[in-house]
Amino acid sequence: MNVDERRLWDRIERLGRVGAVEGGGIVRPPYGTTHAEAVGLVATWARAAGLEPGLDATGNLIATLPGRDPSLASIGLGSHLDTVPNGGRFDGGLGVLAALEVLQTLGEAGITPRRPLSLLGFADEEGNTFGIGVLSAQLWIGEIPPERFGEIRDRDGRGLERYLADFDVPGLPRVERPDLAAYLELHVEQGPVLDTDGGVAAAVTGIVGISRTTVVFRGEANHAGTTPMAMRKDALWGAAELALAVRDLGVAATEGDVVSTVGVFEVFPGATNVVPGEVRMRIEMRCPDEDQMASLRERVETLVAEAASRHGLQVALEAWHHAPAVPMHPVPLRATRRALVDAGLPERSMPSWAGHDAKVLARRIPTGMLFVPSRGGYSHSPLEHTDAAHCAAGAQALLHAALRLADEATL
Ligand SMILES: [Zn+2]
Repeated sequence: MNVDERRLWDRIERLGRVGAVEGGGIVRPPYGTTHAEAVGLVATWARAAGLEPGLDATGNLIATLPGRDPSLASIGLGSHLDTVPNGGRFDGGLGVLAALEVLQTLGEAGITPRRPLSLLGFADEEGNTFGIGVLSAQLWIGEIPPERFGEIRDRDGRGLERYLADFDVPGLPRVERPDLAAYLELHVEQGPVLDTDGGVAAAVTGIVGISRTTVVFRGEANHAGTTPMAMRKDALWGAAELALAVRDLGVAATEGDVVSTVGVFEVFPGATNVVPGEVRMRIEMRCPDEDQMASLRERVETLVAEAASRHGLQVALEAWHHAPAVPMHPVPLRATRRALVDAGLPERSMPSWAGHDAKVLARRIPTGMLFVPSRGGYSHSPLEHTDAAHCAAGAQALLHAALRLADEATL
């Protein structure tokens, strides 16, 4: 039983035209007209496949293939239908269309899985309208309750409730959210690893943790000509050393274990003829292992103190903001790994270095993910591309993982 590569690819191309702008990118913010058009299009295909699609209370598209045992909770399959401004066709869209392809393929083969399978098309993952990433997934698991909807506003003060009230997809009824026994998401890698080594698909072991902090070095701003080198308290001397030391933490780690970045670096007062009196920098580290991340944070704190004392600077380090790594649940992880083999692919796994709907759902629901390659590692860009054969291979693995979970007794 095979997914239909041609059908999946045609739908990826067709959905990719919804919100398309000059230059090849897609603009599909949540709850906008292009988002409604995308939901309507996928719903039309779902209806033609014999499903009964609907919208839940926060604008997520839902369509369920009934299971043999109606008392059992669903296996959710999906991703998001919004895009970043000038985004690509595959981020989010692939996961939704692959879920539809799985449901349609099973339906056409006359296969009724033990548990129901539910397609989920999340409304807001990218977070560009309200400034809250993975908003729909947070709403789904109740981390943001309806009492707080009033606080969620766009740049112009227009609230989420207003958006929801105005969001209309003609012909699509309101439906209740299914209870989920597990969630599976097929997504493009959004990085270069699979593409570089010829990989076709991988099971995702977990989503990396992220630690961030701000460091401010303070020295003395003074005349850049008259202040002798030996008498300077140049805040940039400490900051520059720290920036390179942070780079070295990532470089020194085993490939694939740690990435470290200084993405913000501000020099004050920022004048050619003034010794820098203050530098503010933001440090970010990502790592799949929580113990390793804890020791990296300690190492940075030591490096900060050393850089300051070497150059006679004052330094302040803000409290770390840490989003812990989210490991995939062992049952869906095993299902995704075996599904690769079921689909005729080598068994392979890797962490996800970016966040996804699955990262949030995994906090409440046993969750697994599959990756397919992103050509050149491009994502959030019109250059985003995944080969049709890779999309189909990912959908095929998703089908096998869904069937395995639908039969899984331990969920
Ligand atoms: Zn995405």
